Amino acid sequence: MKKYELKFYPDPVLRKIAPPVIRVNGAIRHLIKKMSQIMYTFKGIGLAAPQLGNLKRVIIADIGEGLISMINPEILTGFGEDYLEEGCLSLPEKVFNVKRQQSVFVRFLDKNENERESELDGLTARVIQHEIDHLNGVLIIDYAPLSDRLKLNVINELKL
Ligand SMILES: [Zn+2]
Repeated sequence: MKKYELKFYPDPVLRKIAPPVIRVNGAIRHLIKKMSQIMYTFKGIGLAAPQLGNLKRVIIADIGEGLISMINPEILTGFGEDYLEEGCLSLPEKVFNVKRQQSVFVRFLDKNENERESELDGLTARVIQHEIDHLNGVLIIDYAPLSDRLKLNVINELKL
């Protein structure tokens, strides 16, 4: 039995780039189910598979309007900009002001391997951008000013 548990910064898996999912099969649907259980347990509003140490391009979100899951999500275009303080389940008790696009147009596969496109805005757009960052090894800490990152003692993490 594979164990699913949340990985915390500075676990190196959080810095890896997840390869795309080739087939959306039962294993992927099982992964989504496990991800949603963990997200709800920790009262998160989004989660990416690499946060469970599973390097696959799978993300989920629920901002209180029902569960969204996306496989191989890709942002095609985006509009506007917006700042908001964000937290992350993998960086407990840390918040950073993160600039994101206000609305995004995303293409992804659903749980049945159908290609879909959707236009998202507001908090949903923000969460999806945050989760897609996880698929590329990017964390909210990367948006913090250098002085904050130094205070957090993450010198070895800085991209110099
Ligand atoms: Zn996160």
